[in-house]
Amino acid sequence: MPEDSRKYRVRKSSIHGLGVFAARDIKCGEEIIEYLGEKISKEESNKRGMRRQARAKKTGEAAVYIFELADDFDLDGDIPGNDAKYINHACRTNSEAVSDGEHIHIVATRDIREGEEILYNYGYAFEHFPEHPCKCGFPECVGYIVSVEDRPKLRRFLSRHAKNKRLKGKNPPQGKA
Ligand SMILES: [Zn+2]
Repeated sequence: MPEDSRKYRVRKSSIHGLGVFAARDIKCGEEIIEYLGEKISKEESNKRGMRRQARAKKTGEAAVYIFELADDFDLDGDIPGNDAKYINHACRTNSEAVSDGEHIHIVATRDIREGEEILYNYGYAFEHFPEHPCKCGFPECVGYIVSVEDRPKLRRFLSRHAKNKRLKGKNPPQGKA
């Protein structure tokens, strides 16, 4: 069946490092790739997650590669052969990660043309945003990798921060060279 033809290709991305690209047209709702990984306990997951957050702080690497699988298990995608880990985050997406409690699949959320980069939202919580800048380049980019739900919160935070900076600019602190 022609269905066997690989749906994706891994190559250099203009957004970040390597990316995953559609190797043929993909229909909305179609599965693109399974997010493979090692099933680990929440305790192990927290340990690995913290280690990788620390590393991300130093290297600016965005991805932590850990997915919530079920209440008591997570999936660590940092294993050889998991091409899905190269999928980049963007503020405008064309796919999403769907879990059935055992497996995670990346599924198209609209029709995708051959050659388009596959993108989904990593869904990171607001609290870690400074460690995960977003360079997706879309007009709606919020500048950081956060979940769709946390975007308004991030915008409020950033605009407050920008106002403070402007005030400081108008009244520069005196007495310091
Ligand atoms: Zn962005």
